[in-house]
Amino acid sequence: MLQMMLSQEVMAKTAQRIMKLLPYKDNSDMIKRAWHLYRTGHVYNVTIENNVLKGKVTDRGHTYEPTFRLKQAASSSCACTAVGLCPHNIALFLYAYNQIDAVGNLIRQWKEPTTKQKHVRRDEKQKHIQVTEQHKKDAAPNGNIIDAWWNSFEKAYRRIPLDYITEEEQMRRIVHSFFQTFERPTAKKPFLDHLYYVHASLFTFMELTRIPLQPWGYSAMMQERHVNQFAQTVQQAMKDLAKKPRSNMHEQLLYDSIPYVRNILLGKIDYVDDILAVYEEMWNTLFTKATYREEECTWAIEQLNKSETLERKIPFIGAASYISFLLGNDERAYKLIHPFPYLAIEHMVDFMHISFAQKNIQRGVEWFERLEQNANAYLYTLHQGDREWFVRTLLSAYHRYSGATGDEQHGRYEQLLQTLLPYSFYEYIDYLFDEQQWKKLIELYMFEQATVDIIPPFHLKAIEQADRSLVLPLYHQTIMKYIEQKNRTAYEQAVKHLRKLRAHYRALKQTHRWEAYVEKLAEQTKRLRAFQQLLQRGKLI
Ligand SMILES: [Zn+2]
Repeated sequence: MLQMMLSQEVMAKTAQRIMKLLPYKDNSDMIKRAWHLYRTGHVYNVTIENNVLKGKVTDRGHTYEPTFRLKQAASSSCACTAVGLCPHNIALFLYAYNQIDAVGNLIRQWKEPTTKQKHVRRDEKQKHIQVTEQHKKDAAPNGNIIDAWWNSFEKAYRRIPLDYITEEEQMRRIVHSFFQTFERPTAKKPFLDHLYYVHASLFTFMELTRIPLQPWGYSAMMQERHVNQFAQTVQQAMKDLAKKPRSNMHEQLLYDSIPYVRNILLGKIDYVDDILAVYEEMWNTLFTKATYREEECTWAIEQLNKSETLERKIPFIGAASYISFLLGNDERAYKLIHPFPYLAIEHMVDFMHISFAQKNIQRGVEWFERLEQNANAYLYTLHQGDREWFVRTLLSAYHRYSGATGDEQHGRYEQLLQTLLPYSFYEYIDYLFDEQQWKKLIELYMFEQATVDIIPPFHLKAIEQADRSLVLPLYHQTIMKYIEQKNRTAYEQAVKHLRKLRAHYRALKQTHRWEAYVEKLAEQTKRLRAFQQLLQRGKLI
């Protein structure tokens, strides 16, 4: 895929080079033409190989097939010019550039000489700094400073052009053109600067999570990635803030921040995992007072009772459960999430990890046990496609549990593997192989209707070496399966396995049992002429 093959570095360098090669004021017509062609969807079938872009561009009824050399832009070509740059190969470049950054940014930069551009940036930053300074002064005890911050974010945000571009491009622009004007404060900066940055990132996150997710495909995947990456930025800003000592005034400012944090719970449900992660980080690291948390929990429960659809309830359920956990009320935390398997699984695993990390072993054990008890019920309420994910999650939770308790109970692990069948098939197979439980291993393969051919040869060999008689039923099952298919190729397979089976009986010195078996088989299949012929030809009867 084109996106995967483009190097951000090469693209950025090429952009710099063509801006020098084609100063905007002398080439504005061509650049505008190229931009127009790209924006109106006249560029398509774009590929890249060895840093050469190729594609098709239709322009006034003609279709051109320009090439654009990323490392030697000037020697690009097109049928309209033969060699050199034209609107078509520039349009091709813009198409590719869009995969790494918003084309609008590039055009703006192109129009404005570098020095001016830098000034604009600096002015923008200066403005924000002034705002901060101003509000430090304004910081009256009634604390309207946060509202003032959000008003200024709102104003700056409205200046970003977001019309006529895709959802994914909007997100990229919000992060690159809007958020990047805020400078991340260094560790030495005071509390207020860090709080300001946390709010700027919360504002940005809120805007991102208000943009609907495309139903499927590459753009949707990129959208999820933007939100997920930005969630990490917000969380990091919160962690940085948490390290700063706070005064009473700061505490008041934090308290004033609560409504803004609540606000993010109203984002699109598609991003609920990232939304909850940000919300929870805030409550875990910054709002540590028990009175705040009690109040928040009451609020979240009220909201969830007020919400009419399950979709609207979910974020509040997650929030109320998490805060209950922070308050030490595990019973309530559990009751809230239990009916919603996706929410429940992720949170219970989290709660277990946090408890163990805090050396609260008993609490962690209880969370693991809640998961374990519900393993079967959750498994079947998940979508088919998510069940193997659940198996991996639960088994890795078990490993964390046994690591933390130092208590490795094979029986318990195996019980879990059994409960999760058939979705735990491969994990169970591996377990039995490692434990050298050959009989059970064969039984599991038989249970899953496996044929000899799909069993890894080293499994088969290990079992045969331990006890050859164990593999006999597997061969019988395999042979029957092939015969049932009633076609020549399958019969040939059956005969191949019959020979192998005979060899096993001979090695076990049970030729009489083999003879009885093959005689009966010949009798049962006497109407399958093709099979009978193969039996005779193979001298099996
Ligand atoms: Zn051309």
